Amino acid sequence: MKRNTWQREAVREALDETEGFISAQALHSSLHASGSPIGLATVYRALGDLAATGEADSLQSPEGEALYRACTTTGHHHHLICRNCGLTVEIAADEVEVWAKRVAADHGFTGAAHVVDVFGLCANCTRLLTANAG
Ligand SMILES: [Zn+2]
Ligand SMILES: [Zn+2]
Ligand SMILES: [Zn+2]
Repeated sequence: MKRNTWQREAVREALDETEGFISAQALHSSLHASGSPIGLATVYRALGDLAATGEADSLQSPEGEALYRACTTTGHHHHLICRNCGLTVEIAADEVEVWAKRVAADHGFTGAAHVVDVFGLCANCTRLLTANAG
């Protein structure tokens, strides 16, 4: 779909300028706010494309919403995500790679892939929320 390249680029640029993960809807709103005529369906499609090619990370929030982020690490990796502020740390997880391969092989599975993202509260939010609670 070469004719949609400018839309894909617009989505990718908007994603690049976003800190942390964002939903297709939120990204669409911010594109609209900056005057882009791009449609929501196109944003969904472009994000799906970027995720498929590894230019963007995608994950399901704990609420089941698909979220996207421009990826700074190429290749397979995992994320540590703050559920309060959205801070994201890209992490390697060698133990997970070994375990996933072994458990798939044990069950006769080939071509196994996995998505492992860890949600929690970052150090900053832990401090803030603890201070408020106390
Ligand atoms: Zn990533
Ligand atoms: Zn945080
Ligand atoms: Zn992995």
